[in-house]
Amino acid sequence: MSERWRISDQRQPSAAGASQPLHITDGEINFLWSFIQGSIAIADTWNGLMRSYGFCARHAWIHMSVELSFRDQYLLGPTILYAELIDKSVRAMSASRTAGLQPVIRRLRAAGPCLLCALNVKDASAGACPQARLDRGRDTGPLRNFAGKLEPLWRGSLCPDCAGASGEGISANRCRQHLLAAMQARIPVDMAAQKDMLRDLSDRVGRYQKSFLAGGAEAADRDRAALIAAIGWCSGWQPLLAQLS
Ligand SMILES: [Zn+2]
Ligand SMILES: [Zn+2]
Repeated sequence: MSERWRISDQRQPSAAGASQPLHITDGEINFLWSFIQGSIAIADTWNGLMRSYGFCARHAWIHMSVELSFRDQYLLGPTILYAELIDKSVRAMSASRTAGLQPVIRRLRAAGPCLLCALNVKDASAGACPQARLDRGRDTGPLRNFAGKLEPLWRGSLCPDCAGASGEGISANRCRQHLLAAMQARIPVDMAAQKDMLRDLSDRVGRYQKSFLAGGAEAADRDRAALIAAIGWCSGWQPLLAQLS
């Protein structure tokens, strides 16, 4: 990992493999192939994703990587998922604070495990997945290209605790888990700025989502970058930063 993205924060919430290359397994590709074809929309699965604020850090970026490998930037599924999760986050941040931060903390916490971790798809077999599909699904180049080109536009939303950095160009806004950690540690946070960031992400990811629908206006690069920022907010940035370093 480059000095630029050095991770030094002792309060970093743990996420298996978060600072390592993604090392996408055969089982994960086989599962996500079916997942992105439609099983993500099964009610129990969708509700579980809402409860858990998406995936753990590693699986959030693996999911995005596999989508980009197979979809060639047709990202309707991820934009629907993250538009919902950002809207849920905005609502959570708007919880009454007359009782202190506890209602916000409670509503921002995941209420269930990462689906892919819970199903242990990492250790599953490739099943009937052909080798060519496994090779394509394991290629993280499309994720690096997509996120790398947009970096100037999402860098302002990067969580300083995930990046292990602060200063010029780095926002004071944290990702969801680091915001939770800061609130629980009673470290002062600028809740208004966090909320503004989430409202902006909500608008932009919503615009990106509509661009995939008939008659929708073409998305701007800032809207595409907002999808990256939305994943970073929900699940943490470290696996992406490791990919880009
Ligand atoms: Zn996971
Ligand atoms: Zn963070």
